[in-house]
Amino acid sequence: MSINERDQQVEGQLNRREFFKRAAVLGALAAGGVTMLSACDKGGEAGGDKAAAPKANAGGGGGGGELSCTDTTGLEPAQISVRESLNYVDKTEKPDQDCANCVLYKPAAEGECGGCATVPGPIHPKGWCSAWAAKPA
Ligand code: SF4
Repeated sequence: MSINERDQQVEGQLNRREFFKRAAVLGALAAGGVTMLSACDKGGEAGGDKAAAPKANAGGGGGGGELSCTDTTGLEPAQISVRESLNYVDKTEKPDQDCANCVLYKPAAEGECGGCATVPGPIHPKGWCSAWAAKPA
């Protein structure tokens, strides 16, 4: 086998590895999307079915605590993986980007966690993830 042939073989293996890595992330995203769609069928709120329904950890309803939307109880491992792979955080570090001004955000009542068309589970209006996309003006 020539050096060129070996180089091409290594390149092919790298591409295959990258393909499987991306497929795993897409699979996790698809799993989240299925949950979103099933929520739509039931006329439920965005954020998924009962297991993936947005819920606050604390605050709201006169509790006086700060709103927290990090409780992933009831989410499937694949859904949690989507949150993690998209680097969801409850508090954005980007002054001009947060969930409330993202086109994918599904708002909830004041003081409650919303949902997201892409990220399963409870979503803070001041949160952020790497799938952020500007809401049309
Ligand atoms: Fe969903 Fe991410 Fe947009 Fe927040 S920033 S609404 S988590 S896509």
